[in-house]
Amino acid sequence: MVMVERVEAIYQDVVKRNPGEVEFHQAVKEVLECLGPVLVKYPDFTEAKIIERICEPERQTIFRVPWQDDRGEVQINRGFRVQFNSALGPYKGGLRFHPSVYLGIIKFLGFEQIFKNSLTGLPIGGAKGGSDFDPKGKSDNEVMRFCQSFMTELWRIIGEHTDVPAGDIGVGGREIGYLFGQYKRLTNKFEAGVLTGKGLVYGGSQVRTEATGYGCTYFVEEMLKGKKNGLKGKKVVVSGSGNVAIYTLEKVHQLGGKVIAMSDSNGVIVDERGCNIETIQQLKEVERRRIKDYCDYHRHAKYIHGGNIWDVPCDVAMPSATQNEVTGKDAKKLVKNGCIAVGEGANMPTTPDGVQVFLSAGVLFGPGKAANAGGVATSALEMQQNAGREAWGFEETDAKLHQIMKNVYQLCSEAADEFGSPGNFVVGANIAGFIKVARAMSAHGLV
Ligand code: GLU
Repeated sequence: MVMVERVEAIYQDVVKRNPGEVEFHQAVKEVLECLGPVLVKYPDFTEAKIIERICEPERQTIFRVPWQDDRGEVQINRGFRVQFNSALGPYKGGLRFHPSVYLGIIKFLGFEQIFKNSLTGLPIGGAKGGSDFDPKGKSDNEVMRFCQSFMTELWRIIGEHTDVPAGDIGVGGREIGYLFGQYKRLTNKFEAGVLTGKGLVYGGSQVRTEATGYGCTYFVEEMLKGKKNGLKGKKVVVSGSGNVAIYTLEKVHQLGGKVIAMSDSNGVIVDERGCNIETIQQLKEVERRRIKDYCDYHRHAKYIHGGNIWDVPCDVAMPSATQNEVTGKDAKKLVKNGCIAVGEGANMPTTPDGVQVFLSAGVLFGPGKAANAGGVATSALEMQQNAGREAWGFEETDAKLHQIMKNVYQLCSEAADEFGSPGNFVVGANIAGFIKVARAMSAHGLV
């Protein structure tokens, strides 16, 4: 009880010291709520103020990103890189380009990344960055000029042994290419390991594009296997239609499930025959169009403008769009409609009351920091290949990803058992992720 009060006091201090950063508060609260029993078992973590230190980023950089649009007009955006924790390895985490980005979003993502990266078992610290730049509707040239300007600031604080950014919402292969080109030009070095998610022709890894979606599906399959069940024959709903959603769709179909609904910020498509991956890829990745156009190619499918994807009855829900997209109300609806498992492909897509609804209904719940760890894990494999000047094949890399996701599941499941919450992978992920980082921080002394 005393320990729980102590953790509550730390949380209140975080809220006070980081005013207005509601997503960051939410992410911290979820982790801290799980740590009471850890402090009882490891009193030295309290003495060394590990929790207080872990909640304070090691370094935060905010910078101006000026660029010119196609009409010659000057545009100003804000760039961020929060280097949260380097206890386990170089800072690692993606860049998000989205108009909603502000410091609170980057800090929530960076904080989550510490524990996620720890769970992968690979030597990577936690970071996140990005900009309030909106890539929607921008030409390739505008995106390139923005990326070049962004990197003209960012290059000073990154490096293959220092900080290794990658993609996130709004940052994919195209953006990473432009960022890498500018880094190479500014430093006069072909330092492949400075960014991950690179193209295959210049140092990228097989399976990195597919990794988050594949990994999340592997995690869900592990949760179901724990209950002598599996994805085969299951109806799955996947929100979003970006990189994570597309490769979740592919892997679910490979494992015998059927994805019957997907979405974008405008609406939902329902295709009871199973969503077609080629169409979604062509629309979203190549032509950068809206999901409603799916119905032009598949007349039997339905488009619901402004619809809520969580109203579609399913066995398994895989939120893969963005934070807080599944509310308590949505969770209740899903449970009522018979949903038995949730795998979070996005970062923190379920609100805290939504998580409670799932846990108390006995729904298998794979929290993002465990379920979507396959993306960053494969980034770490990309770093490994770059360091060894190697390029592994698709099957070999996919097998490593699969094994990593099995390990992540095992870690969460064992920690949940050990600390008295069997089957609660939120507790399991937070505790297992935290302990490894805390041990490394203790070993490093007061830094
Ligand atoms: N943005 C991804 C994540 O949320 C991947 C980060 C990376 O590959 O560094 O984990």
